[in-house]
Amino acid sequence: MWWRQIWRALFGWKSYAEYLRSRRWASLRSKALKRDGFRCRICNTPYTLQIHHRYYAERWGLETTDALTTLCAWHHEMVEADKEQR
Ligand SMILES: [Zn+2]
Repeated sequence: MWWRQIWRALFGWKSYAEYLRSRRWASLRSKALKRDGFRCRICNTPYTLQIHHRYYAERWGLETTDALTTLCAWHHEMVEADKEQR
């Protein structure tokens, strides 16, 4: 329903987990994967791909594919660990 989508865009998702199940996330995710050629941007592997948020928008769902990077599970973990150290 259209009003539901507008409500969600205005108020956001109740939780990050809920957002990750949303259609909005699914479409952003597939756009980012396509743009990056379905490969990790660091090592070029096509396996265990995950989407890394380089930054988060004020609200979930407001980010664009500019904020997303395709990484393999291994590099995703490395990038996240690196961020925590700083
Ligand atoms: Zn990688």
